[in-house]
Amino acid sequence: MKMMKETLLRIFDLLLEKYGPLGWWPADSPFEICVGAILTQNTNWLNVEKAIANLKQEKLLTPHGLRDLPLERLAAVIRPAGFFNVKSVRLKWFINWLYDSYGGSLERMFSADWRELREEMLLVKGIGRETADSMLLYAGHKPTFVVDAYTVRLFSRLGLVRENGGYEEIRSLFMDNLPGDAKLFNEYHALIVRHGKEHCRKKQRCAGCILHLLCR
Ligand code: SF4
Repeated sequence: MKMMKETLLRIFDLLLEKYGPLGWWPADSPFEICVGAILTQNTNWLNVEKAIANLKQEKLLTPHGLRDLPLERLAAVIRPAGFFNVKSVRLKWFINWLYDSYGGSLERMFSADWRELREEMLLVKGIGRETADSMLLYAGHKPTFVVDAYTVRLFSRLGLVRENGGYEEIRSLFMDNLPGDAKLFNEYHALIVRHGKEHCRKKQRCAGCILHLLCR
């Protein structure tokens, strides 16, 4: 366990040394992060940015703005994010739950015990584990680790997780071996994404990879 902690922190240090602090998630408010976490499902970030820009331009990026907006109109505004019919429904499910459970207040939502809140969020249709953890970590500053395709790819290639281990098994590598520190988890995940885009891509670019000596 101690060795695993050292290994994970060594990887973190190497990535941080290469890329520097990345300051994720790029957003003006916690609510924008929550909306972005739903919009980013199955699409790239550039498309999400366009959809967020549309919402901002129309002054709709607030809980009441999205609650009062007709579904068809919401789908049209977030069209650049792709799968806009599905995502508009998911946004509505999230907003309705936010109002039903927390009076539309993210502050109230994030003041709940975060482990219980995570379980509650996973019962909301359209919010999967990655989306819930992204909201909790980046918008709520709660110490939960986000697992995404970049995380699975990098850490399975490093021989630390099974590629088909499943979300919770892979998440527990970080949750069980690292201190529960939201800042660390925030930066670590952002660095994993960056490394997954620059080196550890589907077709990996191992030449010059800072983790080369640790890789199997
Ligand atoms: S050496 Fe290659 S496979 Fe290993 S982490 Fe780097 S890019 Fe990925």
